[in-house]
Amino acid sequence: MKRAIFPGSFDPITLGHVDIIKRGLKIFDEIIVAIGVNATKKYMFPLEQRVQFIEATFKNEQKLVVKTYEGLTTEFCKAQQAGFILRGLRNAIDFEYENSIAQANHQLSGIETVTLFTSTEYSFISSSIVRDVMRNDGDYRLFVPDPVQL
Ligand code: ADP
Repeated sequence: MKRAIFPGSFDPITLGHVDIIKRGLKIFDEIIVAIGVNATKKYMFPLEQRVQFIEATFKNEQKLVVKTYEGLTTEFCKAQQAGFILRGLRNAIDFEYENSIAQANHQLSGIETVTLFTSTEYSFISSSIVRDVMRNDGDYRLFVPDPVQL
């Protein structure tokens, strides 16, 4: 059973995340979308709502589950018996960041990180841009799956 964790804040989930998840589902038997909880971070959407957005987006997908976790991603992977971490790469900034985290995670646990390059039409989308557009009454629906509404 090839099980992967797709970790992130998903505040909120965007079409960029959806693209990586759909493509990841062709590679893995199961994907756990894992929302990391960081007590010191301020979020726009409460945790429960972020979970609901993802569950509603993938309501007919049997191979996907949504969970929340605190602490090290590698410890959560071990607890879930997941051998892989799935990540999306948009640009060189993502690369630098993902590269060091992937190496640290591998040293810590032997868990492999699998990165997929973003599809070009979604490469500019980030949750922070979506939040900015929402706060300023722009048409954020262009960037998020249908279940995400203010
Ligand atoms: P984090 O809190 O770790 O920044 P995010 O929720 O922003 O988490 O992102 C989770 C994962 O999704 C990361 O691997 C990130 O690179 C990837 N990702 C975010 N936006 C996109 C996008 N537009 N296209 C592809 N991957 C993306």
